[in-house]
Amino acid sequence: MSNSYIEKAEEAILHTYNRFPVVFDHGEGVRLYDVDGKEYLDFAAGIAVQSLGYHHREFTEALKEQIEKLTHISNLYYTVPMMEAAERVIKASGLQKVFFTNSGTEAIEGAIKAAKKYAYERDNCADHEIIAMHHSFHGRSLGALSVTGNEKYQIPFRPLLPGVHFADYNDLESVKAQVSEKTCAIIMETIQGEGGIYPASEEFLKGVKALCEEKDILLILDEIQCGMGRTGHMFAWQEYGVEPDIMTCAKAIGCGVPVGAFVLGKKAAEGSLKAGDHGTTYGGNPFVCAAVNKVFELYEKEHILEHVRTVGAYLEEKLDELVAQYDFLKERRGKGMMQGLEVTDRPVGEIVKRALEHGLVIITAGSNVLRFVPPLVITKADVDEMIEKLRKSF
Ligand SMILES: *Cc1c(COP(=O)(O)O)cnc(C)c1O
Repeated sequence: MSNSYIEKAEEAILHTYNRFPVVFDHGEGVRLYDVDGKEYLDFAAGIAVQSLGYHHREFTEALKEQIEKLTHISNLYYTVPMMEAAERVIKASGLQKVFFTNSGTEAIEGAIKAAKKYAYERDNCADHEIIAMHHSFHGRSLGALSVTGNEKYQIPFRPLLPGVHFADYNDLESVKAQVSEKTCAIIMETIQGEGGIYPASEEFLKGVKALCEEKDILLILDEIQCGMGRTGHMFAWQEYGVEPDIMTCAKAIGCGVPVGAFVLGKKAAEGSLKAGDHGTTYGGNPFVCAAVNKVFELYEKEHILEHVRTVGAYLEEKLDELVAQYDFLKERRGKGMMQGLEVTDRPVGEIVKRALEHGLVIITAGSNVLRFVPPLVITKADVDEMIEKLRKSF
């Protein structure tokens, strides 16, 4: 059955992805099933999205309930789900104001606009610059692409946003070298995801924060992939004790319902976007906000952060054992349930393909890293099963 669907899909869908030859049908917990009924253990979570696993009963019920009431009404009015979702994000982050978007990319766009507006209000001129990191990923729209440090993605679409300068991640001196009078923001992932799973060093993140405070530059931390409990902290920066001026969220915040957010700390909340400066038709509608509310509620009820710390440590231990055993595995990097294995001398795509044959879903990051971003509800037994299947795939 799969093959005929794949052929038809390739006829109709713009080929911007080289998809794996699997047609998924449904999911249950940490298992996925394709249209031929084959079962897979999932260690990708739809790219770090499905942190509660698939077909979570209480989550599904909450979505159904909201659909029966109201799905969309626009941002011209108030709704209770949006008010509650904003309260939850603020409580969890300690930041001050939330703007809900439909995706991570749009959260980045909003964060960039907020930083520009902050500097504009302060200086009364609009000629500001942004520092971003090499090997970063922030999205594919023109603004987000402008701060994505990957030439391959950028070249055909130039000219992009002017005034963006790139520095080396985890190299404070290289960031300092890009700072000018015009710098309004430094944007980076707290843990680089697509670029190959590189956590920020504590020294680097603290150094950048100090630099931002000294020069009145806004620090934008992209928590779209590493946030929402993935590292065992609700937001990865909380482990470092380095608070951003603006944070971006998406992926797991809706657990499969498309929603993102940019969240402003005091400075940006008071001195940037005002009525009329930014907008969205769908963003933060009652349906997606009902999802956000239930996600936060279930994280608490199911003690997700504690669970990630325990099982994440076990995952690390098991991946370290693999690195010790196989010469072609160079190192493990990551925190909690955001892990990467750097591979040498073998195409990672081949390993991922063979893993699928063995009923294991994993993905890659960068050109040579196997990425593990499972649903946060996996158990130690799931980790053991994953390791078993991965060994077979080697
Ligand atoms: C996925 C991702 C984005 C883009 O989010 P979309 O929802 O795909 O638009 C931005 N930044 C990071 C760190 C991501 O992982």
